[in-house]
Amino acid sequence: MILLNPKHHTRPYPDGRSREIMLKTIAFFEAKGKRRLKEDDRKRVWYADFIEFQRGEGLFATLLTPPPYGEGDARWDTWRNCEFNEILAFYGLAYWYTWQVSILGLGPIWMSPNEEAKRKAAALLRDGAVFALGLSERAHGADIYATEMALAPQPAGAYRANGEKYYIGNGNTAPMVSTFGKIVGSDEYIFFTADYRHRSYELIRNITDSQSYVANFALHDYPVTEADILSRGPAAWDAALNTVNIGKYNLGWASIGICTHAFYEAINHAAGRRLYGMAVTDFPHVRQMFTDAYARLVAMKLFALRAGDYLRVASPADRRYLLFNPTVKMKVTTQGEEVINLLWDVIAAKGFERDMVFEMAARDIRALPKLEGTVHVNIALIVKFMANYFFAPAEYPPVPTVDDPRNDDFLFAQGAARGLGKIQFHDYNLAYGLYDVPNVAAFREQIRVFKTLLATATPDEAQQKDTDFLLALGELFTLVVYGQLILENANLYGVDDDTVDQIFDFMVRDFAKYALQLYSKPGSTPAQMALCLTMIRKPVVDAARYDRLWRDSVYALRGLYEMNP
Ligand SMILES: Cc1cc2nc3c(=O)[nH]c(=O)nc-3n(C[C@H](O)[C@H](O)[C@H](O)COP(=O)(O)OP(=O)(O)OC[C@H]3O[C@@H](n4cnc5c(N)ncnc54)[C@H](O)[C@@H]3O)c2cc1C
Repeated sequence: MILLNPKHHTRPYPDGRSREIMLKTIAFFEAKGKRRLKEDDRKRVWYADFIEFQRGEGLFATLLTPPPYGEGDARWDTWRNCEFNEILAFYGLAYWYTWQVSILGLGPIWMSPNEEAKRKAAALLRDGAVFALGLSERAHGADIYATEMALAPQPAGAYRANGEKYYIGNGNTAPMVSTFGKIVGSDEYIFFTADYRHRSYELIRNITDSQSYVANFALHDYPVTEADILSRGPAAWDAALNTVNIGKYNLGWASIGICTHAFYEAINHAAGRRLYGMAVTDFPHVRQMFTDAYARLVAMKLFALRAGDYLRVASPADRRYLLFNPTVKMKVTTQGEEVINLLWDVIAAKGFERDMVFEMAARDIRALPKLEGTVHVNIALIVKFMANYFFAPAEYPPVPTVDDPRNDDFLFAQGAARGLGKIQFHDYNLAYGLYDVPNVAAFREQIRVFKTLLATATPDEAQQKDTDFLLALGELFTLVVYGQLILENANLYGVDDDTVDQIFDFMVRDFAKYALQLYSKPGSTPAQMALCLTMIRKPVVDAARYDRLWRDSVYALRGLYEMNP
């Protein structure tokens, strides 16, 4: 079974420590139980118990310390971290968030040439510390060029930092807040660490009303010495973008964890509820919604796992992850919203109840598309790859499932963040040839028409500057990339034809939906509109396949998992 089931966690791990981490984390939450989990959420209790648990077990130290600085099985292993991501989010986004912002905070540290800072971070990890990334500012959103945190030069290479940061997770308790600023009197960027305990660090408030502490903090003449500086100039800029490259990938896993728990709650409830003398799961539309939610969730996981493989084999000569990562970020997280929408329509009032994890899921699933760059920012990034993806494929050696226990060195040596337009991809047709099922064939047809549109009714200069038009185009392109990696991974994991055909049933429908959106854009030309209409297709109906999938894969999940009370 591809979905996480904490009560039956038999996934193979390459080493005992990895298995121990996952099983102990599951045991921690199951021992805490649903009642307390919900109560802490309701009362916005800071998750000190979880931080204490991770400190005691050395979890972040093992999972987030690269080998030269860590001990034993410590390594930064994306495959292993995905597992941990999924488990944390399964139990609650807040627990995931303190881990996620620690990852973000450690990014500029492990990317830095400052050995002293790295040794300090490793020691703090051993002591159970959490970390923070101070990138965002209140007035600037995605526009980090406009950073106002100002470092005034002092004698002997020191600085005084002044300014505010906003939306900084763990900013209340991180001894090393990786903070992004600019050197006064120049356009030079700088990354340095600030300690929340310093008297020049003013913790202003928690911006959110949640279990997490998302800080607004100010530095007032905060003294920054050489020992605190992580990077400067283009290296600091690259560290900011490259850190987000790592972090944004995890957002997809948060959505997967949330949706999986919500799915179990929904199917358990619906299968046990009787209306008009029959089970709710006997309604045809309920079956359709569950089957769709299931297919979308499996697709989310197949895609995110596969994108992880490309992240782990990345090198200066293979930067395909720069397309696949933002796709995890924008597509997997928005699919998560879709899954929750479908499930909520089924379980209706139950989804509001105070003793349901679902009620948290319905709220939290909305966060993931919006953090670390909105969906728009990521589609705007994704479309930069479109021309090479369709018209200039390159040869690469095949990429297997990369689940071996090794440190992902390249993540902290990604190099300059520019040159995206030069990146080439392997031919997507290879993946689309892996499954001979009707809905993959229908989707291939849609892709063919879309490629014809790009080649013969190419968006003109005005359309390419119109982000509204470009975003609609980007949604169609994203679906092609999404389908490619889903197929590659379905093949690697031996996913059956029925499941793949059901996944491409929604892919065909979604492609048609976005084609209609592009058609409807004010700027679309008659030639583009005609081609858009040709992209509108109905999935191939196969009642027997649908019934099998419902019975053997979807309805079969009822009663399999229920969190301890
Ligand atoms: C709960 C929470 C926790 C957070 N944690 C952290 C943290 O720990 N550290 C940290 O540094 N930050 C953190 N952030 C900040 C967050 O990552 C950013 O604020 C967010 O990615 C951008 O959202 P914004 O509201 O500032 O959007 P804005 O950047 O203000 O965007 C406004 C609108 O313009 C669009 N837009 C902006 N730029 C572009 C573009 N280039 N192309 C197309 N459309 C564009 C957006 O899509 C949006 O619709 C956190 C935020 C929240 C809410």
